Amino acid sequence: MNEQPAQASNPPAHTYDFDLIVIGGGSGGVRCARMAARLGVRVACIESRFWGGTCVNVGCVPKKLYAIGSAFSTSVARARGFGWEVQEPSLRWEHLQAAVHKEVNRLSGVYDNILDSAGVTRLWGKASLAGKHKVEVDGRVITAQFIVIATGAHSRIPNLPGIEHTITSDGFFAMQNKPARAIVIGGGYIAVELASILAAAGSEVTILYRGETVLRGFDDEVREHLQGVLQARGIRILTHAQVASIDKAESGYRVTFAPDAGVHGVAIEADCVINATGRTPNSASLNLGAAEIEPDGSGAISVDEHFRTSTPNIFAVGDVLHRMQLTPVALAEGMYVAHYLFGKKAPAPIQYGCVASTVFSQPQVASVGLTEQACMVRGRKFRVYRSRFTPMQQVFANRQEKTFLKMLVDDASDVVLGIHIIGDDAGEIMQGFAAAMVCGATKAQLDATIGIHPTIAEELVTMREVSETVDPLS
Ligand code: NDP
Repeated sequence: MNEQPAQASNPPAHTYDFDLIVIGGGSGGVRCARMAARLGVRVACIESRFWGGTCVNVGCVPKKLYAIGSAFSTSVARARGFGWEVQEPSLRWEHLQAAVHKEVNRLSGVYDNILDSAGVTRLWGKASLAGKHKVEVDGRVITAQFIVIATGAHSRIPNLPGIEHTITSDGFFAMQNKPARAIVIGGGYIAVELASILAAAGSEVTILYRGETVLRGFDDEVREHLQGVLQARGIRILTHAQVASIDKAESGYRVTFAPDAGVHGVAIEADCVINATGRTPNSASLNLGAAEIEPDGSGAISVDEHFRTSTPNIFAVGDVLHRMQLTPVALAEGMYVAHYLFGKKAPAPIQYGCVASTVFSQPQVASVGLTEQACMVRGRKFRVYRSRFTPMQQVFANRQEKTFLKMLVDDASDVVLGIHIIGDDAGEIMQGFAAAMVCGATKAQLDATIGIHPTIAEELVTMREVSETVDPLS
């Protein structure tokens, strides 16, 4: 175990039922529990909803399957340009839903098995803290030297009249029929992903977003490019739209919103209204006070660089931290804590600065590192490289969409600061470049890389022309 002041002041490990109790059987919790068990300690993992957590059951996995399933409509449209004679495609939603469910159930079962085969004691029930070393699971109290909270997050439900008429991403995956008309409230990851799936599946989709351009936090040019492409693909995006209420209509639901400050009463109707306004950490029912832990105003638990809470033997990982709500980050954090507590040597710190993420909108948006706006705040001279082109997949299509690539490079050191891609398979392309950035890649090193021709990815190693050099201080 590595640098643990907690252990010295506590009773010996054998006085507890377990060495480690992990609350939450999602990505971060399962990884932490498995790794700790492999390191030879006695671990219990508690779950109350589904093994595998949000990612497997109502998140990344079903979302990606729906994205793949719905995107065939675009492939069919492009195929015509290559000479295929195909009828107007139509998606049997109920087939897709059943297929996805089956796969999700299979994967959730895999999670049961991997915990069992690692020797983790699986406990089913709602867990809460009953002290610094005590966890209550449905009336039974168990003890451990260390506790890891990995309870994830749930969809935020804004306080709006009629919000009960909306569904969240959980409800989306349970939907047995495709809505003819859908309204999505929000402009983040989930909003653009679900809107893209429905639009590709043939629904009439409207995004109601309270801001100017979707995907706040991403590079501004990327956001503008994506918004334009989504609109060109038929998604109606109403911006500055402050939703006031949701009511039942004769057929479906009516959403009333203010399109601009001071203007009220604009209403649109749809068969389904999806609330995608963010996610809140699952901490409210944990009785954190029993272990002297105070969550912040959003419910997030604060931790130090080792994921230790204010109570030294209690750790927290994943979405309950409200840092980077991404499955691979939760996995890395879970693994870090297991090794930190029980491993032979200290684990390497997680490099949050080079975590790539992909929004599985259609087209995808992949980003790693800094945005141009973050480079401005950083205050050091940087170069911007951009490329917009029509990829080969689309050259014969009736409606062409530009792929957009952008790279930001520190002018003095030549180190790549950020890469952003909008286009087909952006996520697949980005993973390798994220690895290069973890290695501290410079622009000269990318230039020295021979491209794979003809691919979209090769553009990132052939960007010779500087679009502009920006000095934030001038
Ligand atoms: P996001 O935080 O990404 O987006 C929330 C959206 O809802 C924003 O557009 C926000 O507007 C808007 N919003 C917030 N509150 C209100 C309100 N009261 N009324 C109207 N609009 C509101 O949350 P998501 O739920 O989409 O996703 C949560 C997190 O999960 C993501 O941040 C990401 O980390 C993770 N995730 C990752 C995925 C991936 O890796 N592909 C996929 C899905 C989720 P504003 O911009 O003005 O704040």
